[in-house]
Amino acid sequence: MSQLKYCQGPKCHTHDTKDRKRGPKDNKRNETRRRSSFYYLGGNACDMRCQSEWFEVYGSRALDHFGRTTEAKVLNKDNAWRNRRDWRAEGADAFYAYNYLTEERRPITAQQYNDDTNITPDGQLNI
Ligand SMILES: [Zn+2]
Repeated sequence: MSQLKYCQGPKCHTHDTKDRKRGPKDNKRNETRRRSSFYYLGGNACDMRCQSEWFEVYGSRALDHFGRTTEAKVLNKDNAWRNRRDWRAEGADAFYAYNYLTEERRPITAQQYNDDTNITPDGQLNI
């Protein structure tokens, strides 16, 4: 069984919904949502509103922490890679890295397709 985790939305508990209510009838209070998995904010927020509120509060600080883009990035054949899946193909032929400038294809595993570890965040092949 997976561990429950809290939504990271800073105002999650302020949204008045039935599923956030906790406590006895005479002392109901709203609490931050807790789930085994979330779909927003990279698996850390319960919905788009909490994702957006997280960004309003922490987005600028996150950019400062990880480094802002200070000059134009340029698309070239070395950073034009994306993972693709051919839904008609079976087995090992189904997954490939595709360079959308050179149209080159390189086979990848289903695992690489799912976790994107074969491509750097800026689009370079990492295998
Ligand atoms: Zn939330």
